[in-house]
Amino acid sequence: MYYDYHMHCSFSEDSKTPMEDMINKSIDLGIKEICFTDHVDYSVIINDKETDIDVDFKDYFKTIHSFQEKYKDRIIIKKGIEMGLQNHILDKCREDVVNHDFDFVIASVHTIDKIELIQKDFYKDKTQLEAYRQYYEILYNMISKYKDYSVLGHLDIVKRYGDLNNIIDDKVFSDEIDEILKMAIYEGKGIEINTSSFRYRLPDLTPSSYILKRYRELGGEILTTGSDSHNTAQVAHEFKYIYEKLQDIGYRYVCTFDKMKPNFIKL
Ligand SMILES: [Zn+2]
Ligand SMILES: [Zn+2]
Repeated sequence: MYYDYHMHCSFSEDSKTPMEDMINKSIDLGIKEICFTDHVDYSVIINDKETDIDVDFKDYFKTIHSFQEKYKDRIIIKKGIEMGLQNHILDKCREDVVNHDFDFVIASVHTIDKIELIQKDFYKDKTQLEAYRQYYEILYNMISKYKDYSVLGHLDIVKRYGDLNNIIDDKVFSDEIDEILKMAIYEGKGIEINTSSFRYRLPDLTPSSYILKRYRELGGEILTTGSDSHNTAQVAHEFKYIYEKLQDIGYRYVCTFDKMKPNFIKL
């Protein structure tokens, strides 16, 4: 039984897929429970202009509630959000989470100093090594101040947009990665396995097998599985593979969430 805890629909700026299409596809695939995690990314420079990528929360909740009711005999639908963290907007992110009734919050770093990692400008004036180091330092710094989340999204996303022919071994950043994982574990936070790695044709999982193993070794137990789908074809992509892989790595449970509290489901 699979649980897709990272899904986008047309409430996200980068998806055109109606929420109901994502739900129907999930039902067709036999998925038991899904969580919508549409994008909130404040203070991002796009085409030389600073903008806020946000979600109309009122409409978002209303729509999810109506589909929860309509499909209640067929699938469980949870209310989540993917919060794009940056140092100067943490208060705003916190307010959004505190003032809304979310089941689940993914904390992601998509943007550093208002520059999106996907724009590649972030990598322009630095070596790959410097880019990775800055990313991990910023992620650590952010989660030492920001606690209103459930799991860290695509923890090593910095590998996704840099030079894919020169992906730096995790051992180079083992101290930084350990500090991030220890902090998350200490705070009772989880990580997610994000199968977008297959779409980006990355040579490893996201996060890497090393990071997944290390989180377990350090005592981490909270893990969600997400496709990061933006259209129906991507729902639960490669879940059969990752559910087997997680067991190989030593995971015994995956998590779902209810009002920010994890439930442990035996693999
Ligand atoms: Zn993301
Ligand atoms: Zn996402």
